[in-house]
Amino acid sequence: MRKPIIVGNWKMNKTCKETVEFINAIEPVLHDAADYGVGAPFTALKDATATAKNLIIAAENCHFEDNGAFTGEVSVPMLEELNVKYCIIGHSERRTMFGDTDETVNKKAKRLVKADITPIVCIGETEAQYDAGLTEKVIRDQLTGSLADMCPNCVKDIVIAYEPIWAIGTGKSASKDDAQNCCAIVRDQVRKMYGDDAAEGVRVQYGGSVKPENIKEYMACEDIDGALIGGASLKVDSFTAIIDATK
Ligand code: PGA
Repeated sequence: MRKPIIVGNWKMNKTCKETVEFINAIEPVLHDAADYGVGAPFTALKDATATAKNLIIAAENCHFEDNGAFTGEVSVPMLEELNVKYCIIGHSERRTMFGDTDETVNKKAKRLVKADITPIVCIGETEAQYDAGLTEKVIRDQLTGSLADMCPNCVKDIVIAYEPIWAIGTGKSASKDDAQNCCAIVRDQVRKMYGDDAAEGVRVQYGGSVKPENIKEYMACEDIDGALIGGASLKVDSFTAIIDATK
């Protein structure tokens, strides 16, 4: 049985003070039906891990090198020092605006796993690819690159977020059938690459305009083990409603 995992992706939002206030408000409403977490900006991670008890604190990115001339970047050892246990990598915003590729995502995933930090590997097709019927090919290709050369036992414990780019921040969420179908393709690709144990263990999230009103129908799908949530994770009210809806 896979335990569902619901993670808010705050993106470039929340100061340290806002982070601490949010975590203090959310901790009392958490329950055991799923793992819950938030991806916080680098600047807030230290306060976030010091404040959180049960809420998972994730970084939103990392570099694959441990140190060096990479102005503005943050390495995995730096995250380890802050007690961060999860890290979102390859989000579509990073792929489109900051040059992340399947190859760099793969390097980040491997470095994180080595540090015992769980990668949340994001993939998903553009609207043009969706319209052209290329979704399945894009998912399989992105996973082939992003998860190359890993150990099957490591892949079993990671999280993969399937997020159709046309659904991110648009209010235009994927239908539950499309989301289930794509998450099943994700699992099938993991099975092809790493076998049954990895495929049955890996947790696959759907992301893209998830909100309190639609979370239940996604969570009811066989291959959807949770969600990566942008906009609706920013307010205590809406994140609480999502937590309550997944009891
Ligand atoms: P959204 O963002 O929930 O606002 O669509 C999802 C994401 O970017 O992970």
